[in-house]
Amino acid sequence: MYKLKKCALCGVETDLELSHIVPKMVMRMLKKTAIGNIRSSENPNIPAQDSEKHFMLCGKCEDLFSDKETYFANTIFHPYIKKEKINFDYDGRLFYFLTSLSWRSLYLDLIDFTENHLVGIDTLEHLISCENIMRYYLLNKRSDIGAIEHHIFFFEEIREITGNTELAELRPHVTFHRGIISYTFCYEDYDTCGTITNMMGIMVITLYKKGAQEKWEGTQIINGSGNIEAKNQHITSVVGNELINILRTVQASSELMSEKQKWKIVENLKAKADKIKDFAIFHDW
Ligand SMILES: [Zn+2]
Repeated sequence: MYKLKKCALCGVETDLELSHIVPKMVMRMLKKTAIGNIRSSENPNIPAQDSEKHFMLCGKCEDLFSDKETYFANTIFHPYIKKEKINFDYDGRLFYFLTSLSWRSLYLDLIDFTENHLVGIDTLEHLISCENIMRYYLLNKRSDIGAIEHHIFFFEEIREITGNTELAELRPHVTFHRGIISYTFCYEDYDTCGTITNMMGIMVITLYKKGAQEKWEGTQIINGSGNIEAKNQHITSVVGNELINILRTVQASSELMSEKQKWKIVENLKAKADKIKDFAIFHDW
Protein backbone atom coordinates (compact mmCIF):
# COMPACT_ATOMS: atom_id res chain seq x y z
CA MET A 1 0.00 0.00 0.00
CA TYR A 2 1.34 3.40 -0.96
CA LYS A 3 1.16 6.13 1.67
CA LEU A 4 1.90 9.43 -0.05
CA LYS A 5 2.79 12.60 1.88
CA LYS A 6 1.02 15.03 -0.43
CA CYS A 7 -2.22 14.71 -2.35
CA ALA A 8 -1.29 13.21 -5.72
CA LEU A 9 -3.75 15.47 -7.52
CA CYS A 10 -3.59 18.94 -5.95
CA GLY A 11 -0.26 18.59 -4.14
CA VAL A 12 -1.56 19.82 -0.76
CA GLU A 13 0.13 18.37 2.32
CA THR A 14 -2.69 17.13 4.49
CA ASP A 15 -4.19 13.92 5.85
CA LEU A 16 -4.94 11.74 2.87
CA GLU A 17 -7.86 9.43 2.40
CA LEU A 18 -7.69 5.82 1.38
CA SER A 19 -8.43 5.88 -2.34
CA HIS A 20 -9.70 2.88 -4.16
CA ILE A 21 -7.99 2.34 -7.48
CA VAL A 22 -10.97 0.48 -8.87
CA PRO A 23 -14.24 1.97 -7.59
CA LYS A 24 -15.76 0.44 -4.45
CA MET A 25 -19.04 -0.32 -6.20
CA VAL A 26 -17.28 -2.82 -8.46
CA MET A 27 -16.14 -4.77 -5.41
CA ARG A 28 -19.56 -4.56 -3.79
CA MET A 29 -21.19 -5.95 -6.92
CA LEU A 30 -18.63 -8.71 -7.20
CA LYS A 31 -19.25 -9.75 -3.59
CA LYS A 32 -22.97 -9.83 -4.24
CA THR A 33 -22.72 -11.98 -7.36
CA ALA A 34 -19.90 -14.37 -6.46
CA ILE A 35 -20.24 -17.60 -4.56
CA GLY A 36 -18.02 -17.78 -1.52
CA ASN A 37 -15.22 -15.41 -0.72
CA ILE A 38 -13.67 -13.15 -3.27
CA ARG A 39 -10.01 -13.85 -3.55
CA SER A 40 -7.62 -11.25 -4.78
CA SER A 41 -5.50 -12.41 -7.68
CA GLU A 42 -2.41 -11.11 -5.90
CA ASN A 43 -2.86 -13.54 -3.05
CA PRO A 44 -5.22 -16.41 -3.75
CA ASN A 45 -4.83 -17.86 -0.27
CA ILE A 46 -6.32 -14.89 1.53
CA PRO A 47 -9.87 -13.83 0.75
CA ALA A 48 -9.71 -10.22 -0.30
CA GLN A 49 -12.03 -8.02 1.71
CA ASP A 50 -11.65 -5.00 -0.47
CA SER A 51 -10.15 -3.72 -3.66
CA GLU A 52 -6.66 -2.26 -3.96
CA LYS A 53 -6.37 1.06 -2.12
CA HIS A 54 -3.76 3.63 -1.24
CA PHE A 55 -3.43 6.89 0.68
CA MET A 56 -3.12 9.19 -2.30
CA LEU A 57 -5.82 11.89 -2.37
CA CYS A 58 -7.07 14.60 -0.03
CA GLY A 59 -10.76 14.83 0.88
CA LYS A 60 -11.39 17.65 -1.58
CA CYS A 61 -9.97 15.73 -4.52
CA GLU A 62 -11.82 12.57 -3.52
CA ASP A 63 -15.02 14.63 -3.63
CA LEU A 64 -14.07 15.96 -7.05
CA PHE A 65 -14.00 12.38 -8.35
CA SER A 66 -16.94 10.89 -6.51
CA ASP A 67 -19.92 12.31 -8.42
CA LYS A 68 -18.42 11.22 -11.76
CA GLU A 69 -17.92 7.78 -10.31
CA THR A 70 -21.58 7.67 -9.28
CA TYR A 71 -22.50 8.81 -12.77
CA PHE A 72 -20.55 5.92 -14.30
CA ALA A 73 -22.11 3.47 -11.84
CA ASN A 74 -25.66 4.53 -12.66
CA THR A 75 -25.22 5.10 -16.39
CA ILE A 76 -23.10 2.13 -17.43
CA PHE A 77 -21.83 -0.18 -14.72
CA HIS A 78 -25.03 -1.28 -12.98
CA PRO A 79 -27.28 -1.39 -16.07
CA TYR A 80 -24.67 -3.45 -17.91
CA ILE A 81 -23.89 -5.87 -15.08
CA LYS A 82 -27.62 -6.39 -14.43
CA LYS A 83 -28.05 -7.03 -18.17
CA GLU A 84 -30.62 -4.25 -18.46
CA LYS A 85 -28.92 -2.40 -21.32
CA ILE A 86 -26.19 -2.68 -23.91
CA ASN A 87 -26.57 0.76 -25.48
CA PHE A 88 -25.47 3.76 -23.48
CA ASP A 89 -25.79 7.49 -24.07
CA TYR A 90 -23.24 9.43 -22.06
CA ASP A 91 -22.05 12.95 -21.40
CA GLY A 92 -18.73 14.55 -20.47
CA ARG A 93 -18.78 13.06 -16.97
CA LEU A 94 -17.87 9.65 -18.40
CA PHE A 95 -14.68 11.02 -19.97
CA TYR A 96 -13.78 12.65 -16.67
CA PHE A 97 -14.39 9.43 -14.76
CA LEU A 98 -12.26 7.37 -17.15
CA THR A 99 -9.48 9.92 -16.88
CA SER A 100 -9.58 9.77 -13.08
CA LEU A 101 -9.53 5.97 -13.13
CA SER A 102 -6.55 5.59 -15.45
CA TRP A 103 -4.71 8.54 -13.93
CA ARG A 104 -4.77 6.97 -10.43
CA SER A 105 -3.38 3.76 -11.82
CA LEU A 106 -0.74 5.48 -13.98
CA TYR A 107 0.36 7.71 -11.11
CA LEU A 108 1.16 4.70 -8.91
CA ASP A 109 2.72 2.70 -11.75
CA LEU A 110 5.03 5.64 -12.52
CA ILE A 111 6.47 5.38 -9.01
CA ASP A 112 7.26 1.76 -9.75
CA PHE A 113 8.54 2.41 -13.28
CA THR A 114 10.84 5.15 -12.05
CA GLU A 115 12.24 3.22 -9.08
CA ASN A 116 12.77 -0.01 -10.95
CA HIS A 117 13.70 1.23 -14.42
CA LEU A 118 11.03 -0.92 -16.03
CA VAL A 119 10.61 1.12 -19.21
CA GLY A 120 12.93 3.05 -21.51
CA ILE A 121 13.62 6.73 -20.86
CA ASP A 122 11.56 7.95 -23.84
CA THR A 123 8.53 5.95 -22.76
CA LEU A 124 8.96 7.07 -19.17
CA GLU A 125 9.10 10.73 -20.21
CA HIS A 126 6.04 10.27 -22.37
CA LEU A 127 4.10 8.63 -19.55
CA ILE A 128 5.11 11.40 -17.14
CA SER A 129 3.87 14.02 -19.59
CA CYS A 130 0.57 12.12 -19.98
CA GLU A 131 0.19 11.95 -16.21
CA ASN A 132 0.66 15.73 -16.11
CA ILE A 133 -1.86 16.37 -18.87
CA MET A 134 -4.48 14.20 -17.18
CA ARG A 135 -3.83 15.78 -13.78
CA TYR A 136 -4.34 19.29 -15.19
CA TYR A 137 -7.53 18.16 -16.87
CA LEU A 138 -8.79 16.57 -13.65
CA LEU A 139 -8.05 19.81 -11.78
CA ASN A 140 -10.09 21.67 -14.43
CA LYS A 141 -7.00 23.57 -15.57
CA ARG A 142 -7.41 22.36 -19.13
CA SER A 143 -10.40 21.02 -21.08
CA ASP A 144 -8.82 18.15 -23.04
CA ILE A 145 -6.16 15.46 -22.63
CA GLY A 146 -4.43 15.90 -25.98
CA ALA A 147 -3.86 12.73 -28.02
CA ILE A 148 -4.64 10.36 -25.13
CA GLU A 149 -7.60 8.10 -25.95
CA HIS A 150 -10.12 6.32 -23.73
CA HIS A 151 -11.76 3.10 -24.86
CA ILE A 152 -14.35 0.85 -23.28
CA PHE A 153 -14.44 -2.76 -24.38
CA PHE A 154 -17.33 -4.90 -23.14
CA PHE A 155 -15.84 -8.30 -22.68
CA GLU A 156 -18.92 -10.37 -21.99
CA GLU A 157 -20.29 -9.67 -25.42
CA ILE A 158 -17.52 -11.66 -27.01
CA ARG A 159 -18.94 -14.73 -28.69
CA GLU A 160 -15.89 -15.76 -30.61
CA ILE A 161 -12.23 -15.13 -30.16
CA THR A 162 -9.95 -15.60 -33.11
CA GLY A 163 -6.21 -15.37 -33.41
CA ASN A 164 -5.40 -17.36 -30.28
CA THR A 165 -6.75 -20.81 -29.54
CA GLU A 166 -5.25 -20.90 -26.07
CA LEU A 167 -7.32 -17.95 -25.04
CA ALA A 168 -10.54 -19.67 -26.03
CA GLU A 169 -9.66 -22.56 -23.74
CA LEU A 170 -9.49 -20.21 -20.79
CA ARG A 171 -13.25 -19.66 -20.80
CA PRO A 172 -13.03 -15.87 -20.66
CA HIS A 173 -16.64 -15.34 -19.63
CA VAL A 174 -16.08 -17.12 -16.38
CA THR A 175 -12.63 -15.90 -15.51
CA PHE A 176 -12.96 -12.27 -16.43
CA HIS A 177 -15.74 -11.72 -14.00
CA ARG A 178 -13.64 -12.86 -11.11
CA GLY A 179 -10.92 -10.37 -11.82
CA ILE A 180 -10.46 -6.80 -10.74
CA ILE A 181 -7.26 -5.38 -11.95
CA SER A 182 -5.74 -2.14 -13.13
CA TYR A 183 -2.23 -1.52 -14.40
CA THR A 184 -0.12 0.20 -17.04
CA PHE A 185 1.40 -1.75 -19.93
CA CYS A 186 4.09 -0.77 -22.43
CA TYR A 187 4.91 -2.37 -25.76
CA GLU A 188 7.83 -0.21 -26.75
CA ASP A 189 8.55 -2.19 -29.96
CA TYR A 190 5.01 -1.46 -31.11
CA ASP A 191 4.92 2.10 -29.92
CA THR A 192 1.87 1.35 -27.81
CA CYS A 193 1.29 1.92 -24.14
CA GLY A 194 -1.71 2.41 -21.94
CA THR A 195 -3.56 1.61 -18.73
CA ILE A 196 -6.02 -1.27 -18.60
CA THR A 197 -8.70 -1.72 -15.93
CA ASN A 198 -11.09 -4.63 -15.68
CA MET A 199 -14.36 -3.95 -13.92
CA MET A 200 -16.25 -7.24 -14.13
CA GLY A 201 -15.90 -7.50 -17.89
CA ILE A 202 -16.07 -3.78 -18.58
CA MET A 203 -12.53 -3.15 -19.78
CA VAL A 204 -11.31 0.43 -19.72
CA ILE A 205 -8.23 0.98 -21.84
CA THR A 206 -6.52 4.37 -21.94
CA LEU A 207 -3.95 4.65 -24.71
CA TYR A 208 -1.04 7.05 -24.17
CA LYS A 209 0.62 5.93 -27.39
CA LYS A 210 -1.05 4.08 -30.21
CA GLY A 211 1.12 2.21 -32.73
CA ALA A 212 0.37 2.15 -36.45
CA GLN A 213 -1.02 -1.42 -36.32
CA GLU A 214 -3.59 -0.65 -33.66
CA LYS A 215 -7.21 -0.81 -34.80
CA TRP A 216 -10.02 0.06 -32.43
CA GLU A 217 -13.61 0.11 -33.67
CA GLY A 218 -16.70 0.93 -31.67
CA THR A 219 -14.77 1.40 -28.44
CA GLN A 220 -13.68 5.03 -28.14
CA ILE A 221 -15.24 7.39 -25.60
CA ILE A 222 -15.21 10.99 -26.75
CA ASN A 223 -14.68 14.05 -24.59
CA GLY A 224 -18.30 15.16 -24.44
CA SER A 225 -21.66 13.58 -25.21
CA GLY A 226 -21.80 10.36 -27.19
CA ASN A 227 -23.04 6.81 -27.37
CA ILE A 228 -21.40 3.44 -26.86
CA GLU A 229 -22.79 -0.01 -27.50
CA ALA A 230 -21.64 -3.38 -26.19
CA LYS A 231 -21.86 -4.64 -29.74
CA ASN A 232 -19.83 -4.49 -32.96
CA GLN A 233 -16.62 -3.81 -31.11
CA HIS A 234 -13.48 -4.90 -32.95
CA ILE A 235 -9.96 -4.65 -31.65
CA THR A 236 -6.69 -5.49 -33.33
CA SER A 237 -4.20 -4.57 -30.69
CA VAL A 238 -1.26 -5.58 -28.54
CA VAL A 239 -3.79 -5.23 -25.70
CA GLY A 240 -4.92 -8.71 -26.75
CA ASN A 241 -1.82 -9.98 -24.97
CA GLU A 242 -2.86 -8.15 -21.81
CA LEU A 243 -6.25 -9.82 -21.90
CA ILE A 244 -4.43 -13.15 -22.02
CA ASN A 245 -2.25 -12.05 -19.10
CA ILE A 246 -5.25 -11.08 -17.02
CA LEU A 247 -7.05 -14.31 -17.81
CA ARG A 248 -3.98 -16.34 -16.86
CA THR A 249 -3.47 -14.54 -13.58
CA VAL A 250 -7.09 -14.74 -12.57
CA GLN A 251 -7.43 -18.36 -13.58
CA ALA A 252 -4.25 -19.32 -11.79
CA SER A 253 -5.63 -17.69 -8.64
CA SER A 254 -9.05 -19.20 -8.90
CA GLU A 255 -7.51 -22.65 -9.01
CA LEU A 256 -5.72 -21.77 -5.78
CA MET A 257 -2.32 -22.61 -7.08
CA SER A 258 0.70 -22.23 -4.92
CA GLU A 259 2.87 -19.16 -5.40
CA LYS A 260 5.49 -21.35 -7.00
CA GLN A 261 3.07 -22.70 -9.58
CA LYS A 262 1.80 -19.24 -10.34
CA TRP A 263 5.33 -18.02 -10.76
CA LYS A 264 5.94 -20.79 -13.29
CA ILE A 265 2.93 -19.68 -15.29
CA VAL A 266 4.05 -16.09 -15.31
CA GLU A 267 7.58 -17.09 -16.36
CA ASN A 268 6.19 -19.32 -19.06
CA LEU A 269 4.04 -16.49 -20.27
CA LYS A 270 6.97 -14.10 -20.33
CA ALA A 271 8.94 -16.60 -22.41
CA LYS A 272 6.02 -16.89 -24.77
CA ALA A 273 5.37 -13.18 -25.01
CA ASP A 274 8.12 -12.83 -27.59
CA LYS A 275 6.49 -15.41 -29.79
CA ILE A 276 3.07 -13.86 -29.60
CA LYS A 277 4.21 -11.17 -31.98
CA ASP A 278 1.16 -11.43 -34.16
CA PHE A 279 -1.67 -9.54 -32.62
CA ALA A 280 -4.54 -11.39 -31.11
CA ILE A 281 -7.79 -10.35 -32.70
CA PHE A 282 -10.96 -10.16 -30.69
CA HIS A 283 -14.31 -10.36 -32.35
CA ASP A 284 -17.75 -9.60 -31.18
CA TRP A 285 -21.01 -9.91 -33.03
ZN1 LIG B 1 -6.06 17.11 -3.26
